[in-house]
Amino acid sequence: MPQPSIALSTKPDLIGLGRAALSGLLAELGVPERARAMRARQLWHWLYHQGAADLAAMTTLPASLRTELAERASLARPDVVAEQRSADGTIKWLLRFADGQTVETVYIPDVERGALCISSQVGCSLTCTFCHTGTMPLVRNLRASEILAQLLVARDRLGEWPTPAGQRQLSHIVVMGMGEPLLNYDAIRQALTIAMDPDGLAFTRRKITLSTSGIVPKITECGRELGVGLAISLHAVRDELRDELVPINRRWPIAALLEACRGYPAEDRPITFEYVMLAGVNDSDADARELVRLIAGIPAKVNLIPFNPWPGAAYRCSPPERIEAFARIVARAGYPAPVRQPRGRDILAACGQLKTASQRERGRVPEPA
Ligand code: SAH
Ligand code: SF4
Repeated sequence: MPQPSIALSTKPDLIGLGRAALSGLLAELGVPERARAMRARQLWHWLYHQGAADLAAMTTLPASLRTELAERASLARPDVVAEQRSADGTIKWLLRFADGQTVETVYIPDVERGALCISSQVGCSLTCTFCHTGTMPLVRNLRASEILAQLLVARDRLGEWPTPAGQRQLSHIVVMGMGEPLLNYDAIRQALTIAMDPDGLAFTRRKITLSTSGIVPKITECGRELGVGLAISLHAVRDELRDELVPINRRWPIAALLEACRGYPAEDRPITFEYVMLAGVNDSDADARELVRLIAGIPAKVNLIPFNPWPGAAYRCSPPERIEAFARIVARAGYPAPVRQPRGRDILAACGQLKTASQRERGRVPEPA
């Protein structure tokens, strides 16, 4: 009997299904045990190496299995509802999921590499005062499939299937888009586990960086279970100021955050401390000296981020000479202190500028039906 169309959206996702769950699904479909691992590998090859968006294309699987899988599970990718290209080559996509919710994903090309900045939540619950996403309420967490789908869609748009053996246009993943990834840790873990699997998207641990505002217990779990590069949104060196800029600091203050960093596996890759440069707020020489004192003993690099403005923001970016002076103090103490080049500012795609258009325009234009 044909399924009512409403049932389509409730089918479980094939994208993002871990090895064990996939094996379970194949068992339910009557695939004998001895063939399950092979069938699962074939399916992953189509999904994550060939980029197949349709079961019909998966010609190494028996036709009957393809039909049954199509009935039982969904392969749907989000719709790309807008694509904007910056003068500097950065591309921002607005993706819409089956329930109508949208997120932004940003591709940042560089010499011989390219990073995709992926979102973890629709909105964010954390209200950091300098961040555009923080002015959106948290609407919901993304599912693992929706986190992975951002990578698949980007590679669709970049024309990068099958996965090249050598240099990839999309070579790095930064979990720095909308949302706080460690408040959606289970889905992030599930998605990144597949992103790192050699039979999955085959990114190495070293090519993935996750940025957090400081959800301390999850930092420890993330270190143990994923071991990806860690970036900490520090932004202030005193609790009174950090309480204001990054309000989650009231729950896990600077000392607790740095203790979690000291326990993070960073032997082969230093921890990045992100520090947004806000004129007259956190950018003095004394702040720089205190920063160096705080992170002493942690293998670290300090990423200075010029504040990216957004409509209605209450801050200004520190002047270049102030940023330089701050960077010199940090560098003299032995920590690399690169100033992050803002990318895609002209299309509101730079750090902290993401906020979906439907939210931005709410009240001014009608929402799409
Ligand atoms: N929620 C996570 C990841 C997303 S934000 C986090 O907070 O770390 C990614 C980075 O952009 C963070 O370091 C964040 O503090 C920074 N950021 C936010 N708003 C910004 C702005 N307007 N200008 C520059 N950086 C900003
Ligand atoms: Fe959320 Fe990160 Fe923005 Fe803070 S900086 S509001 S944690 S997205």
